[in-house]
Amino acid sequence: MIGEEEAREKIRSAVVPLPETEVSLGDALDRFAATALLATFPLPPFDNSAMDGYAIVAKSAGKNARLKIVGEQPAGISKDFSLSKGEAVRIFTGAPMPIGGDAVVMQEETLREGDFVLIQAEKVSVGEFVRKAGGDLAVGQQILKRGDRLRPATLGLLASQGIGSVRVGAQARVAIITTGDELAAPGQSLRPGEIFESNGPMLASLATKTGVDVAMRRHCPDNFETLCTTLRDAVHQDAVILSGGVSVGEHDLVREALREIGAEIDLWHVAVKPGKPFLFGKRDRCLIFGLPGNPVSAFVTFLVFVRPAFLQMMGAIDPSLPRANARLTHEIVGDETRPHYFRGALADGVFTAIGRQESHAIFGLARANGLLRVRPEARLSAGSEVEVLLID
Ligand code: AMP
Ligand code: MG
Repeated sequence: MIGEEEAREKIRSAVVPLPETEVSLGDALDRFAATALLATFPLPPFDNSAMDGYAIVAKSAGKNARLKIVGEQPAGISKDFSLSKGEAVRIFTGAPMPIGGDAVVMQEETLREGDFVLIQAEKVSVGEFVRKAGGDLAVGQQILKRGDRLRPATLGLLASQGIGSVRVGAQARVAIITTGDELAAPGQSLRPGEIFESNGPMLASLATKTGVDVAMRRHCPDNFETLCTTLRDAVHQDAVILSGGVSVGEHDLVREALREIGAEIDLWHVAVKPGKPFLFGKRDRCLIFGLPGNPVSAFVTFLVFVRPAFLQMMGAIDPSLPRANARLTHEIVGDETRPHYFRGALADGVFTAIGRQESHAIFGLARANGLLRVRPEARLSAGSEVEVLLID
């Protein structure tokens, strides 16, 4: 049995980043930037109005000033108006400021009288409701770092720079194989002794949330030949995730099948709770993760070991889970020998472990939104400050 950090390091050093590709912004959500980008023009690109109203010279606008309207400036064209004191240009949100204009009075603070406008505002300051060129972003500022996740707002920023496509790490493709004679697909009828297969949908959606393409999904009975055939097919993907069959029983065939197809097993048995039987290996460039069959163990080992590997493969700079600080509502005592990931509910800054902290207890897991890693032999009293990993 090896330590959690050592296991993570072994996996980290086995990961080979996938090649880079160029994708359109429409396909770039949750992918990872393969290059840094600098702004090539300022945002806003030109001085423009933040309101529908009247562009004026601020100095000429005391309360009840009566200004002559010399033209209309809509958004989308530049009419190159020049403004002098005592004049106003009817202007709309996003329209370029007229030359000489230094403030906008919003429509709600004006009265229109034919070709004139009466200013109702007490005072108009220079720069009011004017969005200055470069006020948001200057040329040369960094808008993307290598390894950044492309979030919705990042994509908006790139588009606002006129960028239509971006270089990213390729999307990893995974095969998910669940194993077990006792498992029936949801929707089928159960025979005595059977349970429904639940890791498949859970792991597939965890992979999808990580940004991975689930290219293949199979269920295998505990049959050596079938497992070998399925694995031979699966190792064409970037990674294989197996669930179940990695323990020590006679029906746990995964290790033997992996050896049979020529895979190398780098580690088996990690000191974490839940998840001890976790296995990691590879066949050529394909990474192989053998997850324990117990649903909570499969879930936790995916987040602790598999997710970071995929993120690294796809070029992410930060493979860690989001975190939040919280106070414990009750005492938590760690396991004697292994770090223990407690599942719990985090709300309003307090964390409460929920449900049975056992590796088959999917109901508690389904109600949890946080994981708390408790070091071996730690005794955390009620009220302690802890850092919770956020799951959803
Ligand atoms: P195993 O790791 O194959 O020994 O399985 C450990 C436990 O997890 C057993 O109780 C299995 O029935 C259960 N299990 C294994 N695979 C799944 C699965 N895909 N869905 C639900 N439970 C499973
Ligand atoms: Mg099994």
